[in-house]
Amino acid sequence: MNRPETLADQRLYLEDGLRTLSCAGCGARVRVKKNSPQHTSIQWTTRAVRECAEFSARVALGETTALVDGCATLRDTIERAARDGRLEARAATSQA
Ligand SMILES: [Zn+2]
Repeated sequence: MNRPETLADQRLYLEDGLRTLSCAGCGARVRVKKNSPQHTSIQWTTRAVRECAEFSARVALGETTALVDGCATLRDTIERAARDGRLEARAATSQA
């Protein structure tokens, strides 16, 4: 039982709490991790950067990639996923 698919699946689970979300606007796929209600970290792939026009534009204006959290649509997508509990890494305990 050492098929590549199986290994890939396992790696997904090992990267604890990272969820792939695609922007409803530009389709850029980023990996998102919810660390706390106030803190969300977003991992951009080079491909996602190319796909998100707003991201590219802001970087072109001199912003640091690490500080750009994508376009408004993506932020909205992430917020909604968080609200739906789709970003919860471990068993979400109490939910109001
Ligand atoms: Zn976007």
